[in-house]
Amino acid sequence: MDIAEMSEKILNGDRRALARAITLVESGREDHRALATALLGKLAKSGREALRIGLSGTPGVGKSTFIESFGMMLVAQGLRVAVLAVDPSSARTGGSILGDKTRMEHLSREKAAFIRPSPSQTNLGGVARRTREAVALCEAAGFDVVLIETVGVGQSETVVAQMSDLFVLLLAPAGGDELQGVKRGIMEMADIILVNKADGDLKSAAIRTCADYSGALRLLRKRPQDPQGFPKAQMVSALDETGLAQAWEEMQILTGWRREHGHWEATRAEQARYWFAQDVRQALLARLETSWAKDRMKALSDQVATGEASPAAAAQDMLKGLGVAG
Ligand code: GDP
Repeated sequence: MDIAEMSEKILNGDRRALARAITLVESGREDHRALATALLGKLAKSGREALRIGLSGTPGVGKSTFIESFGMMLVAQGLRVAVLAVDPSSARTGGSILGDKTRMEHLSREKAAFIRPSPSQTNLGGVARRTREAVALCEAAGFDVVLIETVGVGQSETVVAQMSDLFVLLLAPAGGDELQGVKRGIMEMADIILVNKADGDLKSAAIRTCADYSGALRLLRKRPQDPQGFPKAQMVSALDETGLAQAWEEMQILTGWRREHGHWEATRAEQARYWFAQDVRQALLARLETSWAKDRMKALSDQVATGEASPAAAAQDMLKGLGVAG
């Protein structure tokens, strides 16, 4: 399949072409990269836009269950839903937290849904770029909602928040003192906190947890891109499928408001700037990973160690060799 054909098929919503295109953007081969860039350039003109929802939560909090029931609800409303993942564990070890088990059994069988596990790459930056490109492909393929899932274990939330229109944090009911366990930075990123498992024996703990987080969110500075009352916490049960419609409504209220007030476009523009800068940084760092660069670093570093060259002079030498010295 050449790029023109692939592009046309994607625009027609062909899932196989979409899957192949994602494999193409995930490839590390240089010729593939050139094709991927050409394809993304072609598709960028489609002007299609999905609602990109970032979803984070620690393992076991109910992300798969939530995506399954939330996704099914959206599909029942006639929406097309894509699910992508950013899995930092796959970046480190090649294994993954998010991809191994059979997940989202019903959703994965839906024609209106598309589920893709995290690319296994050697670094989070690589996973981030490929996921971001996969999001663009899903948008061109006409998906209405793209859910980008990540495990709440640190840096990957920032990555996901930077490619989402809306960031949702999924929490489980807990004792009040566990509130401290959620890092402030992650709380600040969240537009909506969903306290999951608000059912059965866990219901009363969920009510308490939700109240605690509502209180904590009120203490955070109100952000200019938010209407009154946001960010907010509410309860859901992914298992009993309760609170999901309300969560969807809140998401629509928030994004509707942001669109009306120009924040939607402004945020996307900021994100584009961020990813441009990241790509430049990453490309420069990648230059240090070639065998020539590694050997040269070693040789210069030996000279620095013996005092033959100063760190500054050696650094200049290195940069000249890389073709990036001023
Ligand atoms: P993930 O690791 O975040 O993807 O979590 P899973 O979706 O795999 O769920 C972890 C466990 O929590 C499973 O045993 C689920 O059945 C359970 N679980 C998920 N959502 C709910 C819920 O709303 N209520 C209850 N009671 N259990 C849930």
